[in-house]
Amino acid sequence: MFAHDYPFLHAPDGAVYSDRGGWPWHHYLHFADRVTVASRSKELADPARPGLTPVDREGVSFEPIPSLSGPRIRFAHRREARARLRGLLDRADALVARLPSEIGTLAVEVAERGSKPYAVELVTCTWDALWNYGTWQGKVYAPISWWQTRRAVRAFQARNGLEVDGVVGPQTRAALAGGAAVPVRSSSPRPSRRASLRAVRGVDRRLWGAVALARSMGLEIISAHRPSATIASGGGRSDHSYYPSRAIDVAGSAAAMRRYARAVAGNRGIDIVIHTPVGMWQAGVGWTGIDSAATARDHVNHVHVDTF
Ligand SMILES: [Zn+2]
Repeated sequence: MFAHDYPFLHAPDGAVYSDRGGWPWHHYLHFADRVTVASRSKELADPARPGLTPVDREGVSFEPIPSLSGPRIRFAHRREARARLRGLLDRADALVARLPSEIGTLAVEVAERGSKPYAVELVTCTWDALWNYGTWQGKVYAPISWWQTRRAVRAFQARNGLEVDGVVGPQTRAALAGGAAVPVRSSSPRPSRRASLRAVRGVDRRLWGAVALARSMGLEIISAHRPSATIASGGGRSDHSYYPSRAIDVAGSAAAMRRYARAVAGNRGIDIVIHTPVGMWQAGVGWTGIDSAATARDHVNHVHVDTF
């Protein structure tokens, strides 16, 4: 189940649209057979209106939840929304709540009470997003939403044995991405912002964050610049052949490599992630299988990460 506030637009013929572009259902269908979208809904009178993107696809169903936005509506609809979310979550294996959102926050509460596994997807700094939204409602709601989001993040950290600070740092991001706990290593303090920006000799600066994340998760960089490296499938120039290197290879335990692959995908500056047990991730495409047998064979015991 995916929970958010966005009002999906329902046409008379049953088709569902978005006026904010496509939604990344493929991310969830990568690990789930079906996705139930619990969010607000609006009737769409004119599906021919410009700027609409169809968002229904096989395996995805939409369940309208009453709006919780606005101080008066919130209390009137809260009980009904909670009951609907409980009913939907009973039939789901797990929850992905995109925050900041009222429905996402409520869904996390319901999941915690029912001991359902959940992950929180944090879109941006909720205070900035709402404060800069341009309306007085946004300014009123910014601190409430910031506090709710922080509380959800703290609860997630506590459940996963992470340092509870309400901030989505590398450890928490990794745990969110892997859906499993990452042990906090008391011997190695969390990398400071300064440490994560420290120059890494011979590695393109767009990959420094990926290097810092690997180290913070207890993995090692086993290879970066290899002057004559070629691509296993087809023999073209590898990103490892550039100096500074546009690719790194990262290794650790099987579980740590899987967690790292999922955590590093989607980070700024990252173009491709390949790790055979997880698949291949490409910016703008998402996770897919690995087509080339040679590429699959080469990426069993390390995670390959490269930049544009
Ligand atoms: Zn590589």
